[in-house]
Amino acid sequence: MRITINNSCIGAGQCALTAPGVFTQDDDGYSELLPGREDGAGDPLVREAARACPVQAITVTDD
Ligand code: SF4
Repeated sequence: MRITINNSCIGAGQCALTAPGVFTQDDDGYSELLPGREDGAGDPLVREAARACPVQAITVTDD
């Protein structure tokens, strides 16, 4: 799995709330991936987080 977060992120935080094992927010509130979780770590909530993002900033693709 490959996760990308594009620059349309507005820092709404839904991704970190939905899949806190993979997403976090940087000091400015923008989404980033937790170190070592760049591949989603098998977390089924990753796709839910992508759906929850209000600006569709998260893209999930399978390798
Ligand atoms: S839910 Fe979307 S807009 Fe909000 S922090 Fe995550 S990627 Fe950014």
